[in-house]
Amino acid sequence: MAETELRPTNFIRQIIDKDLSNGLHDSVATRFPPEPNGYLHIGHAKSICLNFGIAQDYKGTCNLRFDDTNPEKEDIDYVNSIKEDVSWLGFEWDGEERYSSNYFDQLHGYAVELIEKGLAYVDFSSQEKMREMRGTLTAPGTNSPYRDTSVEENLAHFEKMRQGEYKEGECSLRAKIDMTSSFMCMRDPVIYRVKFAHHHQTGDKWCIYPMYDFTHCISDAIEGISHSLCTLEFQDNRRLYDWVIENISIDCTPRQYEFSRLNLEYTVLSKRKLIQLVDEAHVSGWDDPRMPTIAGIRRRGYTPSALREFCLRIGVTKMDNMVEMGMLEACIRDELNQSAPRRMAVLEPLKLVIENYPQDKTEILDAPNHPNDESMSTRSVPFTKEIFIEKEDFRIEANKKFKRLVLNKEVRLRNAYVVRADRVDTDESGEVTTVYCTYDEQTLGVDPADGRKVKGVIHWVSAEHGINAEIRLYDRLFNVPNPAAEEDFTAAINPESLTIKQGVVEPSLAEAELASAFQFERTGYFCVDKDSSEQQLVFNRTVGLRDTWERSQ
Ligand code: ATP
Ligand code: MG
Repeated sequence: MAETELRPTNFIRQIIDKDLSNGLHDSVATRFPPEPNGYLHIGHAKSICLNFGIAQDYKGTCNLRFDDTNPEKEDIDYVNSIKEDVSWLGFEWDGEERYSSNYFDQLHGYAVELIEKGLAYVDFSSQEKMREMRGTLTAPGTNSPYRDTSVEENLAHFEKMRQGEYKEGECSLRAKIDMTSSFMCMRDPVIYRVKFAHHHQTGDKWCIYPMYDFTHCISDAIEGISHSLCTLEFQDNRRLYDWVIENISIDCTPRQYEFSRLNLEYTVLSKRKLIQLVDEAHVSGWDDPRMPTIAGIRRRGYTPSALREFCLRIGVTKMDNMVEMGMLEACIRDELNQSAPRRMAVLEPLKLVIENYPQDKTEILDAPNHPNDESMSTRSVPFTKEIFIEKEDFRIEANKKFKRLVLNKEVRLRNAYVVRADRVDTDESGEVTTVYCTYDEQTLGVDPADGRKVKGVIHWVSAEHGINAEIRLYDRLFNVPNPAAEEDFTAAINPESLTIKQGVVEPSLAEAELASAFQFERTGYFCVDKDSSEQQLVFNRTVGLRDTWERSQ
């Protein structure tokens, strides 16, 4: 599919163009730095497309670097899922994946350098005391009594921290910057803390771990990153980023640029909240097709190109905003409209008996796979005396707007004949259980010879040859556009976000492969779910044929 523009432009690309043309850099190096503490979501896709997209277009490099300084919350399963998701999106990182923990020795060395320069000290103040001394947005902080400890003593304390001689929370290493700074992050931030935690990469080597702000900029510099792109909440932290780089002996000066996070309506994009949805079993797992995770969106039937297209369409700015779900859906709908072969599937079957059709006959009809693309060829669809149609496609009485089957009226069966409904069976509650019809043998692929106008077309599946299938229909996961703003976001979960139908699909779908996508005519776009087995096909509705997310709903 044609992606919107081959080379988008945005303020970051303009900065890069300038840096290249005035010789500040002669190549571009970016990185995508996830913390392996959850699965990636569609917000991360925005960052991935930005970082890897820039590397691709400028013939530079993009590293995949796990920012792994919080060993307790991290897990190797997350590392693996993140690698899988980035690759699936169609991007290749430069060389092996990297880990901030690869640099723990160097980071430790730079911390020692700061102590030696009188720019860092070990603080034994309690957490509470530290908070008090920090001040507020309107009041400056106060200096810690440990701020003027000698370099020698600080070196000795820091070494003891490393040796495991201090307890967690007993002390921490702080950068000595400015307790009166208007940027809170510059008020002597903690750069190392004691944590007796096993690390998925470094095992039990360390019992002190560097803080994110100290680690990130140094990792960027070690890797020779030219443009370090992150989201707006790190805007203030840029001061600290630059301070660390200026005050250590390293010859690379990466620059940080911030862009706005993706926010998407009717979902949540915070790993903490997504973990809660999984842990509390509000969804079936990280890859539940209602989840905004890349794994969930993939299982829902989105393609990498549709996600990349979405990231192009939303663009990159510094403005915070909320993107409508319809925008995401339009990307996959536009793509599948071109690429998905058409099939017939009945979600709520109603039996239709063609009384003037021979009992034992099976006619093999030829149906196009795509109405506008002959190159997609045709498939065989068996037609028999008994078929299923959609329950909602039949009414005993209806006005002219109802262009489907009505008692004593005609309709065209898609790819087949015109039939007229003559009578019905009903059950004790009055519900129609079977519709009896007659078909017009002369109408296979042609209008009735006598000029009768038959406007409606409905889909159907042979009762004898059709295959039972479980069809999962998804709706928005939340009832409110911004669930994150609710006091308890789980209370806003839409109880109807998943509806399961026992449907019947045309037999050609028996061979459908996992994840392959189809348009079920008149119903929507569907893909084969991984829960499918020899006994039971399972389909996920990726998206309906039209935008159903309009605000009026
Ligand atoms: P979360 O708030 O979901 O936990 P995070 O920012 O802590 O996300 P990281 O693993 O640290 O998650 O993110 C890796 C990269 O992805 C960072 O550069 C981050 O800025 C970016 N990112 C995370 N969420 C979004 C989002 N919603 N939109 C755009 N970029 C994002
Ligand atoms: Mg983070």
